[in-house]
Amino acid sequence: MLLALSLVACAERLSESEQALIRRHGGGIMPVMSIAQEADSLLLRRSSAELSESIALSEDFALLKASMLATVRDPGNEGVGIAAPQVGVLRRVVAVQRFDKKGEPFEFFLNPQIVERSSTTQFGGEGCLSVPDLSGNVERAEWIVLRYRDEAWREHQETIKGFTAVIFQHEVDHLDGRLFIDYLK
Ligand SMILES: [Zn+2]
Repeated sequence: MLLALSLVACAERLSESEQALIRRHGGGIMPVMSIAQEADSLLLRRSSAELSESIALSEDFALLKASMLATVRDPGNEGVGIAAPQVGVLRRVVAVQRFDKKGEPFEFFLNPQIVERSSTTQFGGEGCLSVPDLSGNVERAEWIVLRYRDEAWREHQETIKGFTAVIFQHEVDHLDGRLFIDYLK
């Protein structure tokens, strides 16, 4: 019983190794896990843990978000979305560029869950920061209903369409260890 309680307490906050990794980069660009490296590739295939409110509101988490943003905007390897496991942190948070919003801002989504998908699908070209030199045509739902927490831990549910919906499906897959190459025929 005591052991179980301490395990729960651990999941409520970031581990020492997660803190060390995040602090080492101080909000700057972090190395992107690549399937070309064996250790990275194993990590990319793992499932990420749910965030707690105390993690979401912590200073280390603010640093992690700053690093994810710096990394996805790195002119040397730029993307339209990134998931925390791609920088080596197995936690359920993604940053997505909202092409469906004015100014196309990057936003963060905590514990994102796709609760509904359209039965109608579309094919579109996809690539991934973690999959160097490869792109492919992937079939995705045209629209999704996303349930998530925002950065202030408020709960939301939203219907998202088009290319932005494709990015969400790609990024949420990362949190369950799935990559776009799994869908290529
Ligand atoms: Zn990706």
